[in-house]
Amino acid sequence: MQSAVRHVADSFDRFFKKQNQAPRFKSRKHPVQSYTTKQTNGNIAIKENKLKLPKLSWVRFANSRALEGRILSAMVRRNAAGKYFASIVCEVDIHPLPQNNKEIGIDLGLKEFAVCTDGLREANPKWFRHYEKKLAFWQRRMARRTKGGSNWLKAKQKVAQIHEKIANGRHDFLHQLTTRLIRENQTISIENLRVANMLKNHKLAKSIADASWGEFERQITYKASGYGRTVKMADTFAPTSQTCHVCGFINQEVKNLSVRQWTCPCCDALHDRDENAAHNIKQMAI
Ligand SMILES: [Zn+2]
Repeated sequence: MQSAVRHVADSFDRFFKKQNQAPRFKSRKHPVQSYTTKQTNGNIAIKENKLKLPKLSWVRFANSRALEGRILSAMVRRNAAGKYFASIVCEVDIHPLPQNNKEIGIDLGLKEFAVCTDGLREANPKWFRHYEKKLAFWQRRMARRTKGGSNWLKAKQKVAQIHEKIANGRHDFLHQLTTRLIRENQTISIENLRVANMLKNHKLAKSIADASWGEFERQITYKASGYGRTVKMADTFAPTSQTCHVCGFINQEVKNLSVRQWTCPCCDALHDRDENAAHNIKQMAI
């Protein structure tokens, strides 16, 4: 109850600051249900594969990582696929990583997720595309069952499971990539993409949403601030793909997305479209 009251106070604060909309009640029918409890007098604890929760005492669970620091609160959540998760909020000191002098520019794309100035190319795993047909099949099944019936519920469960698989794959890929980039480089330059605007392009919207550039940017930014790294942003409208990164000549012909490779008419340098863009992002980012 204490946490619920705090959450309400918090949401009204945001509402009066005109930051958020007016708070709504939680729905009993929402597939995701959760509650939070505060730690007092060691009522939350972890011992091997057992978790101690207020009122529930010791519960067996799959312990995914070692606990560090002082426990502040715990949240128990059931996701749409019907799995239960406990997240424990702890107070920890994060130590910045040892400094190095590597600088990197990253161009985000659809075919290749990231192309870096040091030659690293990361393929786009396209998780949604991978499960698209399976998802459509179960969504169609769900639509044809009687709403609320037991067969409908089974189909609904299946749809939620597929969505969960997509999200898990995506998060695993992004966390591994961003952690590696943060570990290896001191300064990271990325493009300031207006993802919301780009989603208005109906032909590319599905692929852009699947690539999850926004989440990539979020992870890079928060990991950088924790580990003492610098993130630089290149302007949305900077001509990163048309400019030759060697001499600065702007080639209008490269605007067309189908041009993958081009030779600079000014200095004869041969450019790969994405690698050249990554170099420009590194140079233009502030
Ligand atoms: Zn040139």
